[in-house]
Amino acid sequence: MRVRIRVRYNAPHMRRFDYFAPTSVEEAVSLLQERGDGARLLAGGTDLLVQMKEAGVHPSAVVSLHAVDELRGISDESDGGLRIGARTLMNDVAAHETVRGAYTALAEGAGVLGSTQTRNMATIGGNIANAAPSADTAPPLAVFDAEAEIAGPGGTRTLPVIELFSGPGSTTLETAEVITAFRLPAVPDHTGSAYQRHTPRKTMDIATVGVSVKLTLADDGSIGDAAICLGAVAPTVIRAGEAERALAGETPSDELFASAGELAQAAASPISDVRGSAEFRRYLIGVMTRRCLGIALERAQA
Ligand SMILES: Cc1cc2nc3c(=O)[nH]c(=O)nc-3n(C[C@H](O)[C@H](O)[C@H](O)COP(=O)(O)OP(=O)(O)OC[C@H]3O[C@@H](n4cnc5c(N)ncnc54)[C@H](O)[C@@H]3O)c2cc1C
Repeated sequence: MRVRIRVRYNAPHMRRFDYFAPTSVEEAVSLLQERGDGARLLAGGTDLLVQMKEAGVHPSAVVSLHAVDELRGISDESDGGLRIGARTLMNDVAAHETVRGAYTALAEGAGVLGSTQTRNMATIGGNIANAAPSADTAPPLAVFDAEAEIAGPGGTRTLPVIELFSGPGSTTLETAEVITAFRLPAVPDHTGSAYQRHTPRKTMDIATVGVSVKLTLADDGSIGDAAICLGAVAPTVIRAGEAERALAGETPSDELFASAGELAQAAASPISDVRGSAEFRRYLIGVMTRRCLGIALERAQA
């Protein structure tokens, strides 16, 4: 069913737009296709509405996902992985038992975002589609090699989350495509992960630097596999490939983690802005990568 509402309001920076509330992904895709580049999806609205009020974003049509129930919820996959619907709220991601246990870094990323009120509106799909380099769930999804499920006019496709980002605020999504879910592969035994961010204020701020790490230990206690992803230090979130390769096969130690921190620093291209200088950001990457590796190691050994 299509509901069409002509919205009138007094907000000085907002312009008139058509509002649609489809009840299925198929209907949402066809509305987006019909309205073309002027249409925007609305999930929780915690990014989009701010942009419409304050940042000069003026869609001619807003397609809400509120009534598309198939996009919400977290379920186990038959291969041992996890599927998280794109419209799942941050508080639901952060509180989910399997996410907290097996995908701890993701629970940590979702759990630090905004305030309780923000997390009760903000969705994981909106956080990724908004493509801020500081998005708190992006580095954790990337270290778990999560894939996005995408529906569009030509059918469905999947894409590694890290490949969705093409720059600050921009994605590789095509016109009329909707992210429907994220699929996280099963996590092997003896795996630990962590996400930490630095913010000038303790809460209600966005990351100056965000670091996520995942370590899987081999039977002899050495590092079988390592993943490191950095947020807010480049135009998109980035994997620190050299640091990851330097860890694989090695025996965990403070020295090893410190040198991985240095390699992660080298992978970044931070800028200076109101939240910190490039130099400070680079320093933080080293410290936070080392710390996250230590936490992930403890969790992998538990
Ligand atoms: C007070 C406040 C504090 C915040 N703090 C943080 C923070 O600490 N960390 C952080 O990372 N972010 C923060 N944010 C930003 C925001 O809350 C998150 O990015 C949030 O996850 C966005 O989700 P949403 O559902 O509200 O997205 P919306 O605003 O509805 O949409 C965001 C963008 O994604 C697109 N979109 C939404 N869903 C889909 C989909 N399924 N497929 C394709 N495109 C889609 C929309 O068209 C829009 O362009 C904060 C925002 C506010 C207002």
